[in-house]
Amino acid sequence: MKVDYIIVGLGIAGITFADKLETEGKTFVVFDDMSQQASIVASGMYNPVVLKRFTPVWQSKEQLEVALPFYRGLEEKFSIKLDYNLPIARVFKSVEEQNNWFEVCDRHLLNDYMCQDLVANTNTEFMAPFKLGMLKNTGRIDTKLLISTYRNYLESKGQLFSEKFDYNTLFLDKTSVKYHNVIAKKLVFCEGFGMLKNPFFNTLPMQESKGELITIFAPKLNVDFMLKGPVFIMPLGNHQYKVGATFNWKDKTNNPTEEGKKELLDKLGSILTTDYEIVSHVAGVRPTVKDRRPLLGKHPTYKNLSLFNGLGTRGVMIAPYAANFLYEHLEKNNNLPQDLAIYRF
Ligand SMILES: Cc1cc2nc3c(=O)[nH]c(=O)nc-3n(C[C@H](O)[C@H](O)[C@H](O)COP(=O)(O)OP(=O)(O)OC[C@H]3O[C@@H](n4cnc5c(N)ncnc54)[C@H](O)[C@@H]3O)c2cc1C
Repeated sequence: MKVDYIIVGLGIAGITFADKLETEGKTFVVFDDMSQQASIVASGMYNPVVLKRFTPVWQSKEQLEVALPFYRGLEEKFSIKLDYNLPIARVFKSVEEQNNWFEVCDRHLLNDYMCQDLVANTNTEFMAPFKLGMLKNTGRIDTKLLISTYRNYLESKGQLFSEKFDYNTLFLDKTSVKYHNVIAKKLVFCEGFGMLKNPFFNTLPMQESKGELITIFAPKLNVDFMLKGPVFIMPLGNHQYKVGATFNWKDKTNNPTEEGKKELLDKLGSILTTDYEIVSHVAGVRPTVKDRRPLLGKHPTYKNLSLFNGLGTRGVMIAPYAANFLYEHLEKNNNLPQDLAIYRF
């Protein structure tokens, strides 16, 4: 079989690049072994403001201008709902935090997202004595549905191999790559944290940043916005809420832990007064880079091999934006922005 591209990994990175290839009329196949699951378990939130310090996320406006139409396009392509536009309510811990919020609201960059007036909480099922700061034009993407829909789509067209990619059986020459019976012009690795097992790119500085989430059933909570206190509480419908996430910089596994659950429940207990039940508990490893920017670019020696990784904590917003840059770089030889290129290391 001859194709333009092989993609390894079908998380958010792999999907955004695959879809770009399809839009541009390129042929490709994907290998994925489900060994990583950041994209499957992710909360899927998009939010252009760093809620600890009230600063803008790097290039957030530019990212959202690409990301939101991208997800809308997939909704139309597959007749599914992916994008849930939901405001965020930031729970203030003090008057000082309220003042910081007012100060930042005045800056024109964040005007599109931060609402100047504070909102008093009237819901007795959670505590917010210092009021709430509301963010608009934020939301969540149903990444689990996105992954399963895209997997099924590629599988039905014979473009997905559900198997581990074995780096040792890859043959490279100047104009092509050969993997088993597939000959391709180029190969793009999108393995998330799995990159550390890739002998071509595993010297790049990726840190594990494991995250755990629980889903709860809280019939009386009745919140139709994302509540940001010591944890995020995100409505999923049917009185279910995602609660998360933890950060663990040592554990490299996808296994949910008692320690992670306890941390989430302790934090939940400091804001919720309502009764709830735990429905599920999941974990995944975020592919995080020390400067919190993606890793894009060609291998310095094997130019047919490229990397699309390092999406960190914000894959939903940045992946469609980064996929466009990588495509233009590989097909038109356009330079990658210095902030995103692997050559910065
Ligand atoms: C708990 C948690 C909450 C999160 N919440 C959010 C959020 O609210 N908003 C947000 O934007 N981001 C969030 N993230 C981050 C987001 O999930 C990541 O940025 C994003 O999913 C990374 O996507 P990826 O495609 O690079 O990696 P992954 O999703 O890890 O995908 C990599 C794929 O490559 C495959 N693979 C790896 N090695 C091989 C191999 N050798 N052979 C075959 N296949 C292979 C894996 O099976 C996997 O399918 C969260 C992450 C976690 C863990």
